[in-house]
Amino acid sequence: MGGQLTVRLAPQACPKCARTIDAASLPGPKFDEPIAPMPGDLTVCVYCSAILVYAAGPGAPWRLIDLRDWMALDRVTRAKLTMMAEALKKYRGWTKL
Ligand SMILES: [Zn+2]
Repeated sequence: MGGQLTVRLAPQACPKCARTIDAASLPGPKFDEPIAPMPGDLTVCVYCSAILVYAAGPGAPWRLIDLRDWMALDRVTRAKLTMMAEALKKYRGWTKL
């Protein structure tokens, strides 16, 4: 059964909206131990719905997804990311983040 895993990250600014990202939700099994995201992992910024790729670079671990990254994803992953971004847009509408 696929679960949702949330990890705490060293706070970093979103490359698009500059708000702080300090957690990431990754599809996967639940572990008791927090794990670090792997390069190439994806997340969606809760503030601006930007789809971000974990690049593991010093100082700027998250970067905006580009067309090449997007084309490399399978159809299911693309659909999931699009759904997450849409859901977050609605959520922001309710809470006025
Ligand atoms: Zn953002």
